Amino acid sequence: FEAKQQGRQTQIYNPTLNEQLHRRMEIELHLRKAVEFGQLKLYYQPIVVTENARLVGMESLIRWFHPVLGTVSPGEFIPIAEETGLIVPIGRWVLEEACRQNKQWQDSGFTPIVISVNISSRQFYDPLFTESLVSLLHRTGLAPQWLELEITEGVMMDIHTALPILMDLQSLGVNLSIDDFGTGYSSLKYLKELPVGKLKIDQSFIKHIDTNAVHTAIVQSVLAMSKQIGLDVVAEGVERLEELAALRQSGCPFAQGYLFSHPVAADEAERLLSETRCKLDEQLNEILDID
Ligand code: C2E
Ligand code: MG
Ligand code: MG
Ligand code: MG
Repeated sequence: FEAKQQGRQTQIYNPTLNEQLHRRMEIELHLRKAVEFGQLKLYYQPIVVTENARLVGMESLIRWFHPVLGTVSPGEFIPIAEETGLIVPIGRWVLEEACRQNKQWQDSGFTPIVISVNISSRQFYDPLFTESLVSLLHRTGLAPQWLELEITEGVMMDIHTALPILMDLQSLGVNLSIDDFGTGYSSLKYLKELPVGKLKIDQSFIKHIDTNAVHTAIVQSVLAMSKQIGLDVVAEGVERLEELAALRQSGCPFAQGYLFSHPVAADEAERLLSETRCKLDEQLNEILDID
């Protein structure tokens, strides 16, 4: 109490900052062992055709279950992994796991889907990235057309550095998409020149799109532009039926969000794969014109 009291007077002791630093160090320390100790899991979230909720792909999303820290969200530990370079071994594990799982599902006879993997800046600019991807695809036996790499606008900000890497990746035959589209400062005129096939519109624009005229206008112009240059579009974070209805009305081809399914573990994802369409409750059926 005394130290705190004193601290408050001198403005030196800052429990909040201290706690933050402690948490950060704790995460970093435990993250070093997370791959080795088998604490990481990949979850999968369906990506569906807006018209009929047919499942066409899944985004892989990392989960970290620590025996003492509990579940730590990727929003918290990925930036730390990125800063410390731990993202390189973690990212390698994610890619390997996603490709292995996708190949296993294909070998079991499920209709093939594309699995997308989030790629962080450090991974993307790692000079060995493309090379390691080639050997990974070879090792797992997955055809490159079933892998998609999600890269944010921020990562591609310096177009002159990013472009040759994107071209290399494209020549491997993997799909490339821009994640969280709209949150960065990417110049629209460059989109045409980037070898990406898909935009994932950030969930902040999808939220309340049914009532927010500004969001509707933004999404509609992204859709119009994408159509013109031949890009696919996925709406991220679709939570409500009204949002889905608005997206359908605007002609958005693909959607992803809690409305269809939360990210789920591999066994549950496999169950979703064995159904033709995502969990459809009655209301959803009605809006989708499905009997
Ligand atoms: P992201 O790539 O934009 O992934 C979408 C995030 O939105 C995921 O959060 C997902 O669970 C969440 N989400 C999906 N549908 C909805 C919805 O309807 N409503 C709301 N509110 N949220 C929804 P998550 O899994 O916590 O991941 C957060 C971020 O962490 C990801 O954003 C991605 O940037 C990063 N991340 C996750 N897994 C990986 C990974 O394996 N590698 C790398 N480098 N980054 C990852
Ligand atoms: Mg993503
Ligand atoms: Mg996203
Ligand atoms: Mg995001």
